[in-house]
This record gives sequence, structure tokens and C-alpha cells, in this order.
Amino acid sequence: MTTVANNDKLPAGEIVATRDALRRPLRDLRISLLDQCNFRCPYCMPEAEFHSEYEFLKRKQRLTYDEIIRVVTAACALGVTKIRLTGGEPLLDKNITDLIKRLSPMPGVHDLALTTNGMLLAPMAQKLADAGLQRATISLDSLDEDVFRRMSGGRGDLRKVLAGIEAAEGAGLGPIKINVVVQKGVNEHTILELLEHFRGTGQIVRLIEFMDVGNRNGWRMDQVVPSRELLERIGKRWSLRPIGKNYPGEVARRYEYADGAGEIGFISSVTEPFCGSCSRARLSADGMLYTCLFANQGTDIREPLRKGADDDELIDILSSIWLQRADRYSELRRPDLAEHHVLKKVEMYRIGG
Ligand code: SAM
Ligand code: SF4
Ligand code: SF4
Repeated sequence: MTTVANNDKLPAGEIVATRDALRRPLRDLRISLLDQCNFRCPYCMPEAEFHSEYEFLKRKQRLTYDEIIRVVTAACALGVTKIRLTGGEPLLDKNITDLIKRLSPMPGVHDLALTTNGMLLAPMAQKLADAGLQRATISLDSLDEDVFRRMSGGRGDLRKVLAGIEAAEGAGLGPIKINVVVQKGVNEHTILELLEHFRGTGQIVRLIEFMDVGNRNGWRMDQVVPSRELLERIGKRWSLRPIGKNYPGEVARRYEYADGAGEIGFISSVTEPFCGSCSRARLSADGMLYTCLFANQGTDIREPLRKGADDDELIDILSSIWLQRADRYSELRRPDLAEHHVLKKVEMYRIGG
């Protein structure tokens, strides 16, 4: 017997989504395939913490593809329609196309996307698309070689990432989204140049406020460039107008260039939180399910999976986690309070943003 819903009916033909304690449906599942990364972006995996001795998950600690498929099946039964593969760096998983081939035909999976730093993308883009991947988001913080290198922890090669973007576009993985974390005094002065580059390409730049995820990136409020400040600066160069959401729960606030050169998104988790419509669950590579990007604890799904839980039991576990969910960290964020900084939170590289 499954305890699936405390919900409203959706239009005929759609799964009735499970709703949490704040009546938010479960719609998106972000799956971190591994916790390793070929970059050391200081805002996510600073080199000093993630050095050569750092112990990443071992293969057997990570969920197998069979286990991931079982979690996705259960999640889809509760209303998930969107799957995003992330990491760490998901393209370090050399068999990722095998997983995509299995996920893409699943009846509940309407949208299958990937977030990557783009370094390994160029030679893989067509294979990913052929396997059934629908869309790619590529992270790229600056087109200034020095700034980019610094923000990738000295490991990124700008030409490879740009080639990855081009290959993804060519493989039909567009419209490509370009994720840019904006940090005060680090890359904010290169944002206009980056926007200029992508104007008119159909690729959508999304400017993300530097967030206080995890406890290792030394986040401070004074390193955040509020989106409204950026919008003002950009508006002095190009005329912009707001456009509506593509779908309920979309996190980016969208603007279009008045001259028709495309669209920009602002993800303002710090200054304009969007918890009210947050429909995302996150699965770490070792099978912990988190209901918030800033969660201090998750629920172990790997253990019941490995102890032989059947599909109904799995649905029950996921359902009871979501039904109890009341997270709204960004709305409650108090950077001015000392206690706020000692909250223990999951690290971004474990759950993939
Ligand atoms: N490695 C892949 C990548 O970088 O695209 C996927 C995982 S990464 C954790 C996912 C997204 O989280 C990236 O776009 C990254 O820029 C963003 N991110 C990481 N740390 C962040 C932070 N402290 N604030 C805002 N965004 C962050
Ligand atoms: Fe790696 Fe992505 Fe984190 Fe950068 S943001 S360290 S590329 S996981
Ligand atoms: Fe969702 Fe948590 Fe972010 Fe709010 S803080 S939008 S609940 S992930």
C-alpha cells in the first residue's frame, strides 16, 4: 500500500504529483553521478579542501545504474517528470551514455538534461544526444582567460569549454544554457563581455548569485552581486524587458533584449529567494536524498535499495520524505547572524546544484 498523495488533481493524463508540507509538488530530480570533478572552482570545491589526499566516494559506495533507474521509477510515480544529471563533473563518468539510454525512454521522464563544466563535452556531445539527452547546461564563469582559469581552480581550458558549447549546439542539445556564478570583485567586471559574446546565438546566459552552499567556500554576503544591481548595469548597455516563466517552478527570472538578440536569466537565490515554488529533490552519488540545496541532512536510499526494498516500498520511502518536506532555507537565510554560518550543510559538489 503506497502513501502517495496529499495533493490536488492535475489535468487528466498527468501523474498526480505528491505535494510537500507547503503544498509544493515533486517535479524535478537532480542526480549527482559522482562527487569527483576535474575543476576546483573556489566557490564549490576549493583546492585547499579538495586536495590530492581527499577521499572521494569509492565505486561501490556509489549507486549503480540499476539503482538509479529504480529511484527514478519511484520518483516518476510521485510526479517527477524532469531529470537532470549532474555531479561533481558528470562527464567523468565514462559510461554516462549507457545511463542516458536507459533513462530517456522511461515513460515518466519528459525532460532529460545535463549540467557540466564543458571540459570533456566536445567529443561526447553527439553521443550524449544520440543516447537521448535532450538539453545541456554548461557552466562558464568568464571569457577572460585569467579570470576563467582562476574560477576553475587553475584547471579549466576556455577553448575546450567553448568547443563543448558549440558541439552541444550542433548535436541539438539546445537551447544551451550557460551558467555563470557572479562573484564580487572576481568576475563581475567580465559579465558584459560574456553577454556580448552570447547575444544573438540563441544560447541563454544565466547569471547566478554566489550562494552559501556547503561550509567550505568561505561565502560572505559582501561577495554577492545582487541580481537587481547586475540588471541595472546590463540595462545601461542594452535595453531589456522582463518575460514570463516557461513553466511553474522555473527558478530564473527571464529578460529579453529589446533588439531581439535573445534572453538572459537571473537566478537570485540569495536576494530574491524562490522557495515557494521549489519542486526539486536531489540524489547524491551515494544515494542520499536531499529536499533542499542547503539541507543539513538527507535520507539514505541506498540502504533500503541494497536490502531488497521492492518498488512499492521505495515509493513509500520517497513519498514520506516529500510529504514531510518544509524546507525554505533561502527565505529564512540570515547572513547577519553568526549562528547562520555554523549550520552544517551538504556540499554542492555532492548534490550538483
Ligand atoms: N560540474 C558541473 C558544473 O559545474 O556545471 C555540475 C555540478 S556544479 C555543482 C552545478 C552548478 O552549480 C554549476 O553551474 C556551478 O556553477 C554551480 N555552483 C557551484 N557552487 C556554487 C555556489 N557557491 N553558488 C552558486 N552556484 C554554484
Ligand atoms: Fe566542479 Fe562544477 Fe563544482 Fe566547479 S562547480 S568544482 S566544475 S562540480
Ligand atoms: Fe528550494 Fe531549498 Fe533553494 Fe528554497 S533554499 S529554493 S527550498 S533548494
